[in-house]
Order: sequence, then C-alpha cells, then structure tokens
Amino acid sequence: MNTADKGMSLQVPGQPKARYNSLYSDDEMLDDEDSTPWQNGELSSLQGSVYLPKTGKLATAAKEDSSQLSAVIRMGWLDKNPPQGALYYQRRWVKLDVDYLRYFDNDKEVYSKGIISTAFITDVNRVGELKFEVATSNRTFIFRAESEVERDLWMDALEGCTGGRHQRYTMNSGLTLAPDHQGYLELKGLRSKLYTVVASDKVFLYKNIDDYRIGVGITSIDMNVGNVKDSDRRSFDLTTPYRIFSFIAESEQLKEQWVDAMRNAIDEALSNSEVADRIWAEPSNSFCADCGAPKPEWAAINLCVVVCKRCAGEHRGLGPSISKVRSLKMDRKVWTEELMQLFLLLGNERVNSFWAANVPPSEALTPSSCSEDRRRFITNKYRQGKYRKYHPLYGNQKELNSALCINVQCSDVLETLSLIFCGADVNCSTGMASWPSALSLANAHSQPLQAELISHNLNTELPSDLDGAMETKHYLPSPCVSHNGFLFKTASMARAITERKAREEFSRRWCMLNDGTFSYYESDKNSNPNGTLKASEIVCLAVDPPEKHGYDNTFELYSESERLYLFGTDDPDSHKEWVKSIAKSFIPASAEPLLRLGFERIGRLKCKDGLNLQTSKVGWFALVGSTLHAYLENNQGEEIHLRKLNELSIQQDNEVLVLVERGRTLYIEGERKLDFAGWCGAIQTAAGSGGDTLSQQQLTETDIPVIVHSCIGYITQCGLTSEGIYRKSGVNSRVAGLCERFRQDARSVRLREGEHQVDDVSNTLKRFFRELEEGLFTLEDARAWLSIAAIQDESMKISQYQLLLNRLPRVNKATLQALINHLYCVQRFSELNQMNLHNLAIVFGPTLFQTDGKDYTAGRAIEDLIQHYTLIFEVDEQQLKKQLEEITVIIQVREKLNTKFPSTEPGGHFICTVYLEEKKDTAEQHVKIPGSMTAAELTCEVLDRRNIAVKDKEYWSCWEVSDKEEMERPLHYQERVLPILHSFGTDSHLLIKKHLAMEAMIVYLTSKVDVSKHGMMKFREERSILGLGLSSGSFHDRYFILNSNSLRMYKEVRSNRPERDWPVKNLRVYLGIKKKLRPPTCWGLTVVYESKKQERQERQQWYLCCDTQSEMREWYATFLSIQYDGNVWPQDGLQQTRVSRVLPDTRHGNVSLIPLRGSENEMRNSVAAFSQDPLALFRDVR
Ligand SMILES: [Zn+2]
Repeated sequence: MNTADKGMSLQVPGQPKARYNSLYSDDEMLDDEDSTPWQNGELSSLQGSVYLPKTGKLATAAKEDSSQLSAVIRMGWLDKNPPQGALYYQRRWVKLDVDYLRYFDNDKEVYSKGIISTAFITDVNRVGELKFEVATSNRTFIFRAESEVERDLWMDALEGCTGGRHQRYTMNSGLTLAPDHQGYLELKGLRSKLYTVVASDKVFLYKNIDDYRIGVGITSIDMNVGNVKDSDRRSFDLTTPYRIFSFIAESEQLKEQWVDAMRNAIDEALSNSEVADRIWAEPSNSFCADCGAPKPEWAAINLCVVVCKRCAGEHRGLGPSISKVRSLKMDRKVWTEELMQLFLLLGNERVNSFWAANVPPSEALTPSSCSEDRRRFITNKYRQGKYRKYHPLYGNQKELNSALCINVQCSDVLETLSLIFCGADVNCSTGMASWPSALSLANAHSQPLQAELISHNLNTELPSDLDGAMETKHYLPSPCVSHNGFLFKTASMARAITERKAREEFSRRWCMLNDGTFSYYESDKNSNPNGTLKASEIVCLAVDPPEKHGYDNTFELYSESERLYLFGTDDPDSHKEWVKSIAKSFIPASAEPLLRLGFERIGRLKCKDGLNLQTSKVGWFALVGSTLHAYLENNQGEEIHLRKLNELSIQQDNEVLVLVERGRTLYIEGERKLDFAGWCGAIQTAAGSGGDTLSQQQLTETDIPVIVHSCIGYITQCGLTSEGIYRKSGVNSRVAGLCERFRQDARSVRLREGEHQVDDVSNTLKRFFRELEEGLFTLEDARAWLSIAAIQDESMKISQYQLLLNRLPRVNKATLQALINHLYCVQRFSELNQMNLHNLAIVFGPTLFQTDGKDYTAGRAIEDLIQHYTLIFEVDEQQLKKQLEEITVIIQVREKLNTKFPSTEPGGHFICTVYLEEKKDTAEQHVKIPGSMTAAELTCEVLDRRNIAVKDKEYWSCWEVSDKEEMERPLHYQERVLPILHSFGTDSHLLIKKHLAMEAMIVYLTSKVDVSKHGMMKFREERSILGLGLSSGSFHDRYFILNSNSLRMYKEVRSNRPERDWPVKNLRVYLGIKKKLRPPTCWGLTVVYESKKQERQERQQWYLCCDTQSEMREWYATFLSIQYDGNVWPQDGLQQTRVSRVLPDTRHGNVSLIPLRGSENEMRNSVAAFSQDPLALFRDVR
C-alpha cells in the first residue's frame, strides 16, 4: 500500500525527501510546526484509513471523471512556492476551472492538496522571473512556470476567472452555493478535525472554519461517485472509487445528520447529472456553443444553445429578454421532456449553423478567451444577430409571419428558430379563429417541440437588425490598403491625451498596414509585431493640429477596446499619407465620400434620430471645420452645420450627445467612452464661435449670427419705445460681460427684460459690429459702399447698392438685411424713441463701417440703406406692413399694461387663455393673471364669468394640460398660476374642470393614519430634451416607498439600498403617460423633477405605472398630501378661498400670450423663487 503511494508521488529533483500524497496542503504541513500527523509518526495510520489502495484502473478513472474535468480552463505542471521556512519549490499539478484553482501532487490524483476558490482571489500578479502570485485576502500563493509564455497563459486564465467576474457577475461564484450541512468531523487517523461542508452535490474539506471563510481548502469530493456507509456508533465511511473517507462525528445524533446530508448530496449529484448527461448525449452539446469549452452545464433555453459557465455569465448580462439562462444541473424543473428533446433535436452544431453562420475567424472565441472578448462576441451573436444566417424572407414582416404559421405545423424546429430570430412575430395572428396564435397552431398540429420553442420566445427581444446594410457593410473585410513606413509611437493609453507628449515619449516603430491589419514592429528587420490593430477594430481616427505634441504631425487611433494610440512624424507628407491610408482601411464603401474630406476626425458612432428613436444605427462621421458630415444610411450623405444648431448638449450622464437642428434631432450615443469623449469635445469646440469674423459666428437658420438675432429680437420686444435707443450708452462693464457671454456660446444666452437693460443690449450689438473682423461690408468692398453714398442720381445709387449687396458673402448679406430691417422699424417709431433716420445713421455709420466718424460719409451710406430699404433689398411691402402692425400691437399692449395699473397693482400681469371644460374656441376665456393669483382664484374667476355656481362636492380645479405629452395636472388650489404659465411649453394650456377623483382621494387620505405609501409600480425613465423623449428601455417593476421626505425606489422589496431617492417636494406629478411610451396600463403618472445644479437647470422625467386606477389615485393623493402638508382641498369649499379684491376689467380681445415675459419685477421674482422652491410661493399665501 505504501509502496503504491510512493510510486504515485512525484519526487521533485532537489527535493530533500520524498513526500507522500496527503490531504493537507503544503502550507499546513509546515506552517504548523509540530502538529502535523506526519511528523508524529501517525503517517501510516492516516494512510491506512484515508487512502484506498490504488489499482491501475484508478488513473484512467480519474481522467474520465466528468465532473472534475468539466470546466477545466487550464492545467499543467507548476512549481509552487515553498511554505514558510522551506527552501524548495514543490512541483505540483495545477488545474484551474471557473470556480477553483486546485493543486495536486501529480496529474493522476483525484483529490487535491489545496483548493482555492477563485471568488476569493483578490489579485494575480507577476513577481520576478517566471513567477506569479495568487493573492487572497490573507494568503498569497506563489507559482513558478517553466517559461514566460506559460506564466502569461496562466496569468491570463486566472485573470479571466477572477477579474471579469468580480467586476460584473458575482453569480458565477461557486461559493454562493449555500452549505446544506457543515461542521467539524474527525477523519480517522488525523489528530485534528477537519471543517467539513456539504454543499449541493459536493463535500469540501477545510483545515478549519477560518479557512472555509476565506475560501482556501484542502479538497472537494464530487458526490456523484460517492457512497455513504454507516459503520458503528459515531463513525461512517464515504467511499468513492478512489478513496475511502472514514469520518467520526461528535455524537451519534450528529452522525445521523451527516449521513443524511451526504446521502442527499449524492441524490442531488445523481439527479443533477441526469439532465446534463441526456443533453450531452447529442455530441455537439458537450461543447459550449459559444467558446467550445467541454461539458457545458448551462443553456439559453430560448436561443437553444448549451453553453459553459463563463459564457452563461455573459448571456445573463444580456438580460432575460434576450437570453433565458438555465442550469442543466440546478434548474431541473424547467427541463421538461419536450425541452430536452428540443435540445437533442437541434444541438449546438445545427443551432450554430444559424446563429454562427458568419463568424469571422478573428472574432471567434476559444475556451480561454477573456471576459471582455466573450462579452463582445456574445453580444454580437445574440443581441445584434451579427453572425446569424439571414432568412430569405428577412425584412419582409408579413411573409415571415405567414411562413412561421405554416412552419410550426411541421417538425422543422430549426426553421422556426431561424424565422423567429430573423423577425417573425411569434405573437402574430394566424387569422384562424380556432388557433389564433402560432403556439396554438403548433399544439393543434401535435408539434410539442415547436410549441416548446415558441413558448420560450413569446417575449423575446429580437436581435436588433438596427443597421441593416450599414452593419453588414461595416463587417465586410476591409479594402485592401497597404502602406508602410516608420512612425513614432507612444505607449497606448486607456485615457484621453490631455498633455503634450514630448519627443522622448515616442519610440520609432516600423509600421505596416496590410490585409486590414495595422501592425507596428521594433524595426523593419523584425518579423514579430509589437502590436497589431485590426482595421475593423479602429473606431476613430483623429488628426491633431500641428505641433500639438513633440512631433509636428500626429494622429490618434481609437480602438473598439477603448485604447488610444498616438503616432507622430516630422514629415507632413508621410503624415497625410498614413492618415489617408488608415482611414481608407476602416471606412466602408458606403461612407467613402468622407475620405475625400480634409477631416480632423473620422469614425463610427452609434446614433438615433427623430424618425426612429427605438433603434440606434451605426453612422459614419467626419468632422471638417464646423461641419459634421454623416452617413447614417446607405449612400445618404448629409451635413450638419454645427454653428447653426439650435441646441447642443450632452445628456444622460454624459452618454448621449444631442444635436438639435431645424426640424430634426440627432442623438449620438456613447457606445465607448474614449472615442465618444473625443467626439464630444471636438464637436462642442466646432459648434462654438470660431473667431471674430461674421461667418465664424454661431448662426441662425437664416444665416444671421445668433448674437445679432438675439439683440434685435430683444430691442424689438422691449426697446422700441426707449428714448434714444442705440444712442444712449449702456454700462460698460455689463456690455463687456454680455459680449463675452455671446462670444463663448451665443446660443446659450437668453436676454430677459429686467435682467438685461435695453441700453446694454443695444450697445452690445453695436460693439459686435464695431469689433467685427473684416467688417460687415468686407475689407475689399467697404470703400466701394462708401463711394456710392456720394452718387447723386437716386436710381443709379440704388442699383449700385444692389450690385454690391449681391457681392456680399451669404452671411454678410443676410445679416445686413436683418439689421437694416430692424433699423427701418426703429425709425418708424421715432416719435416714441426719438431716433429718426438721421440719428440712427449717425450712430450706425461709423459702427458698421468701423470708421472714426469724423465725416458723415459712412452715416450717409447707412441713411441710404435705411431710407431705400424696400427698394435695395426688394422687400415685400405687405410683409413689411404686417411686421410694423405686429410691432404696434406689442407697443400698445405694453403701454396699456404699464400705465393702467402702474401703482395700484404692483404685481405683474399676463394675459392668458384659459379654457372651460374643454379646449375649443367657444370655451376660451382671456384672463389677466396677476402675480399673486392662485389656482382657486382663477377657477372662481372663470366660473363667475360663466355664471356657474359651485355645488357641494364639486371639485372644480384649474388643470395644467399638456396636449402633446398626453398628461395633465390639477393645480393645487393655493398654487400660483403665473409661474406655471411661465414654465409652460406652447403645447400646454390651462383648463378649468371638475376634479372627479378628489372625493375618493380625500376619503383615502382621511382613512390613513400617517401619510406614506409603499408598493410596486412599473418604472421607466426618460430625460427629456426639448420635449423629444430619449427612449431608455421599457417599463420595469420597482418597489417604491413614499414618505414625508422622499420618494425612494428599490430594485425589489428586499433590497436594502434604494436605487434612487428624490426629494418629494421638488417633484411635479402629472396624471397620464404619453402613449408613445406604451405604458403597460392606462393608470400612469408622469413625474417631473427639476433641480438646479450649478446654474444649470436639470430636468428629469420618469413614469410610474400602477395596476389599478385606485392604486394610482392613492399614490397621487399621497404625493399631494405630502407636498401640501395634508391640505389638499380648502376646508370650507372653493368659494371661500376668494379674497375680496377688486378685479380689474380683464376682458381683452384676442390679444393673447404676447410674450411680455418678465415685464414686472414681481413676476420675475416669483418665477425665480419658483425655480428655487416651487412651494415657497404657496406657503406664503396661506
Ligand atoms: Zn463557453
């Protein structure tokens, strides 16, 4: 017996003495100086009891032990570090699977000397030559490989098992198996007891409980080969084909428990392997469908693939709507006979003929692929369907559906799979009354496997065929571009380059672009590249401005795996050539015109636009100056003029760049962080004003600088009656400040009366023109314009001006026309503002021609332009007349308001259209809204006008109704109306109608002891930009707790920490959810949260959906009650809220909603106060 053992143990050269196989790890033997059994002469007794005689058959048995081999990622000989105090490395056979790193005396052993749970490995590091260390929280193991290559392979494999999972899927951890039974057991012959754990289908042995807690054990015993035999009193034997473990429990009673627990583990192991054994009977199922690892124990039951544990983790990451992951061993219940039959009939190989019909060899996985690669591959394969075999009917929904309905009647399940994942709708109507669905049709035709397949895919999210042609194009092999030469390269980076890279940081490299791969070598003599980058992995190429880094000409390459490579050269021609070649290698033919541009940045980005916000597509972009060129669909090139955008913002935690143009909005998504950040920066810079000439400004759609447009608009609204407008000077510091703000980002400047003074704004406009580089009339032609002023003959003069006008660049011409039009209007009201033609010309002549003003030539030219405005600019007289009429109305209304209640009513007014009961012309009321008016007052006012008496239990309220958003909100009776009006969009209106649910809400609230509520609701989020929703997923169940402080959202009832926490008092809750979002029920609430973070207004919007109407009312009532401290309705009825006050005559004609924003201080203050704290206003009313 001992001889047999000795024969098995391996004598490591240089080892001082032969060592016997033991159940103790090396550490234990030498750590515990004198307590190890070997040193106490108990070796033989231990061996006698623990070790079975080894027969020749054992070695082969070990190899066939499926459970041990199942998920081995890597195995081989390594030298393990000497335990403390010892000098010699010990040669060990080491095996790694996803859950454990084990080491054995030799490769024939079944039971390890040591087992380390990978879940507890905190770090894997290279240490010294050929060595690496595996660290757990309080023990470090050092291994030495035979070569650097070996060492690196081990490192990679270990990192794959630890790093990837730690960051993302802790569910992979083997130790999450809850122990079924645990405690100390004596192993016959060993003096100290072992901490023994029975978990699922395994028994683990640890030296003590502390080791158990840190995941470092001796060995594990697979119970599928075990047998438990009761011996006498406290002892029992666990026999396996390889060893007998003779245990002694602490009492007879405990022995019974141990025996039971171990027998259960055997049962479990046997039944566990039952499903797996059957599924693996189809040979291709015994290898992972994604990476090829042997004995895969998991399956995606809707996709019909059997996968290994590591791939299953990535499948889970896709979410159950894409992949429903189940274990072959643990989820026995789902494995119905039909499902097993389905898996046997299909099998990984046949299924992959669909799913993996077109996998580029470079993208294929191997059992040792890292988590990152797995994630990418599995996402590509199942979420995007990138490698699938397209069904001939692909894209033709109707035919796909009918093909599905026909096919489910036969036994070809692979065809059904192909139809489903190419877009056939499993929920489509068959058109047959008795079998309305594909599922019922399959059942009716006795096709249980078809039914099984369909039933697992009733709610599956289909691979998004988002980019159709673009996507397939993108993955075509790159065009054959080749180029080579020396370049200087810095180390690649995972972060953006923020600092200048000095020459010393670059190293000379021989670079080659060939066969769609870019490689760099130590020198042109080397044949092994230092690094390679496939052209298909390049997502962006950015050309730096000259002299940004130590080398004059540099460019950056961004890879799909978020690396950034910087290359440089002193030779501008070589630089150009490289940029051209590299761009050509990764830009698809469909976006080929981009290559002809002198781009600063080129690459691909994911984006969505207004037409289809549901799916994003791949777009190819190139940035040239302030123009973004884009190829979003096949062959449809378009240009986005960044300086003309209405809005440019980064939303959703820096993940979406929103570009709002006239008539359309483009959302660029940050698919990867690194290149996206680069694009955002470049686009933002390009969208800002680029310089001091006219065409470099941010422009409106009509090619007028935003600054000019804003100032003219403001003066027209607020300054036409201001005496000496344009002549009086503003406050210099304020004018300079405004100029600067416009220069930084003109689009973001909002001119508001009260906040900005008329004279400051008028002088800002003047200063802009005076300092304009090259002037409004251009350097070349300014003199010519001036010379015309001297011409006597009127008609000749006019035609000369027209000639010059048509020579102006587009932007100059549009700007000049807008300005002269404005000045024309100003002088038409000179009775009010004292600025006649001549006065304006005196001011604007020298300003526009940038002269010193010593003579009147410039003034005369401007006088001509204003005087002959309609002729020179060929203005439509009718149009002009209409414009002047509008201005007259503005002036009249302003006068009326300013003079009629100048002192008696200090509050601001706003004329507003309010509807009674429904929005239609005949129900329209025009009401002047003083700053102090509450919702109750407005309601009474309207009811009074219509002589409607309020009856008992009638809850008339004023509602804020948003037409487009399909939601409404009853204003609280004490809420002030004016701030609400100011927060309105144009698609909202006020409506007076009864609040039918109020009675029920009051009843509910009085029944409650404390005001709070908790329960499940369906949640969906949206951050809204200009009312255009960004769809972000669908509705999900969440658990909510609403109390006096906050609304908290939890992932589930048992979660400890809320996912979100909002202060209730800053929320505005609307009834209803827009239908576009497809809320699961019609009882939804839209919640708006507005906060002011560092000057920037942030608005979030999300949706809560309840199962019943009464649920929704209860939530709403609770919100209301908390926000108004229980005061939801006036105690004595609505009429009593009316304060006695003299209501001015507020009946105006149809002059509604003329933008008089902010004309009174109080209104402004109230608006400001509102945005600070929406409820402050209501509090002081009480
Ligand atoms: Zn796999």
